[in-house]
Amino acid sequence: MGVEEAAVRRAALVTGASRGIGFEVCRQLGRRGLRVVVTGRDGTAVTEAAAGLRLEGLEVIEALLDVRREGAAASLATELRAAGVRVDVLVNNAGIYPPGTLLETPAETFREVMETNFMGAVWTCRAFMPAMLEAGYGRVVNVSSGYGSFGEGLEGPAAYSLSKAALNALTVKLASEARGDVKVNAVCPGWVRTRMGGSGARRSAQKGAETIVWLATLPAGGRNGGFFRDRRCIPW
Ligand code: NAP
Repeated sequence: MGVEEAAVRRAALVTGASRGIGFEVCRQLGRRGLRVVVTGRDGTAVTEAAAGLRLEGLEVIEALLDVRREGAAASLATELRAAGVRVDVLVNNAGIYPPGTLLETPAETFREVMETNFMGAVWTCRAFMPAMLEAGYGRVVNVSSGYGSFGEGLEGPAAYSLSKAALNALTVKLASEARGDVKVNAVCPGWVRTRMGGSGARRSAQKGAETIVWLATLPAGGRNGGFFRDRRCIPW
């Protein structure tokens, strides 16, 4: 189903959903009965991912979204709204992980990481949160990392680590601006077997997606403005 064919119903939008954790989040949310907007920057990969989920009987809308492109999320939000799709769950999952220390990382790489892992979430939140605040319901989940945690030592590649620390700060800021039953939380999925995590990682994508899905479907009394791993709070 393309955007234009969608009938009015609430939906969950996941960025970077063509594979890895994002794809698995779509699957788990879909199995919980949510309609899922599968997004990514590679049209062929998005179409293949959406087709795989439809084969499982899940209701899926597919859409192109390069989170680095300023204005792209806002355009998609307008398009979805016009098609009667109300996005009330947003999972900011798209991410890249180039290696390197602070002094060695090329400027262009640094910019690319910040634009993808941090600014990408800024653009999607600015595009989709106003309707959530207006409706009085919404769940935003920022897929961060323990490498973005001051409390865990800001380990990992420099640009990646700083981008995730900034994403955590964005989470705190947005949570403080949330009203009604709108919640914004961050999550570390753990070390997960994906293209990013590599084949040596201990966790399956299924396990990595669990806490993300839990936060995306929190009940009204659930936390706002927290950082979680395995459903437990971890330090910022
Ligand atoms: P992955 O398999 O490499 O998937 C990353 C996804 O992000 C891909 O679909 C990729 O699409 C997409 N993406 C990258 N740049 C994008 C852009 N500009 N616009 C839209 N989509 C873009 O990685 P993963 O392990 O599933 O990671 C998902 C999230 O979990 C990331 O935020 C990552 O930092 C976080 N995380 C992962 C681990 C781990 O161990 N795997 C640990 C901690 C945190 P393309 O194919 O177009 O590149």
